[in-house]
Amino acid sequence: MPADDRSNEGDDDRHVRFRPAIDAHTHLFPERLTEAIRRALSDEAGWSFSHPTARPEIEDVLSEAGVSTYVALPYVHEASLATELNEWLCAQAARSDRLVPFATVHPDDEDVGDVVRRAFEDGARGLKFHCPVQECTPADPRLEPALETAAAFDRPVTYHGGTAPMFEDSPYVGADVFEDVVASYPDLRVCCAHMGTYEVDRFLEFAREYDNVYLDTTFAMSTSAEETMGFDPSTIPDETFVELSESIMYGSDFPNVPYPYRNERVGLLDRDLPADVARDVFYRTAADYLGLDFGSARA
Ligand SMILES: [Zn+2]
Repeated sequence: MPADDRSNEGDDDRHVRFRPAIDAHTHLFPERLTEAIRRALSDEAGWSFSHPTARPEIEDVLSEAGVSTYVALPYVHEASLATELNEWLCAQAARSDRLVPFATVHPDDEDVGDVVRRAFEDGARGLKFHCPVQECTPADPRLEPALETAAAFDRPVTYHGGTAPMFEDSPYVGADVFEDVVASYPDLRVCCAHMGTYEVDRFLEFAREYDNVYLDTTFAMSTSAEETMGFDPSTIPDETFVELSESIMYGSDFPNVPYPYRNERVGLLDRDLPADVARDVFYRTAADYLGLDFGSARA
């Protein structure tokens, strides 16, 4: 593992509050896909990556940090690739004691509802799509069978719903299309990744207004957010985490981040959040979102 992930976090009690953690947003792909995704990210953003790409090494870094469970989010750029990827990820999960797989689907897949249903029956815990990459809004009629299947199976949906870092002109993301989908599916738990950046205030408002809205801290709350996505995490005050701790969960985008894994959590840990709030953000909210029953019940 990179030496920087081994750094001693010192005696600060607040850092103990991370363990055990659920990382609700990571990526695990077959080797060749990971390389293609990293090449695309490097070309677009000039980032370079040093984290491992294979499951056992990824899990070494995560468990060393205190992550007991992590969610892997797949996505596909083209139709007819989702089933194979979903099967691959579920097979990886069968060999892991901490991997929670999600399923993906492409709006142009032949039988969208069936792709998702088969993945759920195979063990996928939720659904992920990537609207700017797949060129669709979440409420696109082509995705309706997928959302209905997720609601029927009581499985959550995570997607890249914000305009950061390069989607400000995209018709497929943003607060308006997000509200469309959460208002249309009041029984469906929907998570907008990256705190909804750059429209954070509107997404926080959705979290206040809708019980089925979740946000993840991925990238946006990292100590590298300013230089990687032009977002200052300190614009979200501690009180917001206290108020919305049952809607906000920790995520990282690991291993496809151009900085040490610890950067994702140290900014959150350095805040003066009450222990109970930290437990929500680092564990309980994700457990509830995922519908995992391992002592997730709130007091
Ligand atoms: Zn991601």
